[in-house]
Amino acid sequence: MKNNQMTDFETKCVHSGMGEFEYGAVVPPIYQTSTFKFESAKHGAALFAGEEKGYIYTRMLNPTVEALENSIAELESGYKGLGCASGMAAVHTVFASLLQAGDHVVCSTAVYGPTNTLLGTIMKKFGVETSFVDTSNLEEVRNAVRPNTKIYYIETPGNPTLSISDISAIAEIAHANNSLLIVDNTFMSPALQKPIELGADIVLHSLTKFLNGHADVIGGIVVVKDEAMYKVFRKTLNQTGGVIDPFNSFLVHRGIKTLSLRMQRHCENAIKVAEFLEKHPAVNKVFYPGLKSHPQYELAKKQQLGSGGMITFELEGGESTLPNGSPSTVGGFEAGQLLMNSVKLCQLAVSLGGVETLIQHPASMTHYTMGRQAREAAGISEGLIRLSVGIENVKDIIGDLEQALEKVNQAANVF
Ligand SMILES: *Cc1c(COP(=O)(O)O)cnc(C)c1O
Repeated sequence: MKNNQMTDFETKCVHSGMGEFEYGAVVPPIYQTSTFKFESAKHGAALFAGEEKGYIYTRMLNPTVEALENSIAELESGYKGLGCASGMAAVHTVFASLLQAGDHVVCSTAVYGPTNTLLGTIMKKFGVETSFVDTSNLEEVRNAVRPNTKIYYIETPGNPTLSISDISAIAEIAHANNSLLIVDNTFMSPALQKPIELGADIVLHSLTKFLNGHADVIGGIVVVKDEAMYKVFRKTLNQTGGVIDPFNSFLVHRGIKTLSLRMQRHCENAIKVAEFLEKHPAVNKVFYPGLKSHPQYELAKKQQLGSGGMITFELEGGESTLPNGSPSTVGGFEAGQLLMNSVKLCQLAVSLGGVETLIQHPASMTHYTMGRQAREAAGISEGLIRLSVGIENVKDIIGDLEQALEKVNQAANVF
């Protein structure tokens, strides 16, 4: 991580969104109330007219939620944030605020599954068309434009190959087409990547992951750059109702105080785990932006302040296609399942970004129902493993993977 930027950021993690609270409370109290009393009829009228600042009803705004929103807006160098009930509620708030029938979206192929499904089903039903392209390839991004393209939506690093999309370059393409660039920054967190500073118009997160960091909350946030956009988004969120609640806001805000420390450790651990995996005979390929073997190592170094905690790797026998183009060898699927059943410290679970190391096998878990052919088309080979490297002692993480991979290695001739 670049230290000059981090020093300032570490302080912000501790202090952002902390303000003046009743009784001199040092942290935002949990205002666990659905509604707020007006002082008089005149006061109520002034609040509703927007002539006075204050709280009316928690779906509209709540002080605990607002403290969290202010914190993340500051960390992301945005104007304001909008706390949502989940990452998907944040994604939906963006689409519902910006799109209408007849609009076109350019979206990364390597995007979170439910985001892909939301665009392909519900948004499609309402008349929005989407082109899914490999946004790590700028030619594909340029060629996807249509006269009705309204937004470019990217995730970088993308899932599952951790391919990197050039935020500044795509922002330029989007703006030249009078479109907006939206970045899902969940994999990096504002500690490692600041899309708004790189030219993006809107940033969103699943708070469930690194921002909260403790695997005990579902939440999301949208960060916008100006008041006009904020008003549009607030209206949508108020009408659709997918807001975060005060208690979850409190927990996420608490998690953010250690965001910088946690991300530093995630990065330190992940590079060591990636280097270990790259040398292991049971591993065919490792995808991690901090490895020199990553095809976009230089771009990652340029736009990210660290390489993050997410690693994917392919077990031997798990190639998606053979060099002659025929379907992949058998064995990767079974090897993946054996690895899942052999780890002890790594927790067998989906999701990511918590303090504990999580491991999952997309072919038998998150992407099982897709079927093998569709998985291969999406670059998800049968032996692909996704690892969310936690903040444990890295020797313990590597030790666990080592003993589990040894079992895979021993069983290799059985497959
Ligand atoms: C988890 C995730 C989401 C969705 O977030 P939820 O909080 O589960 O709704 C969106 N984008 C990315 C990149 C994610 O990892």
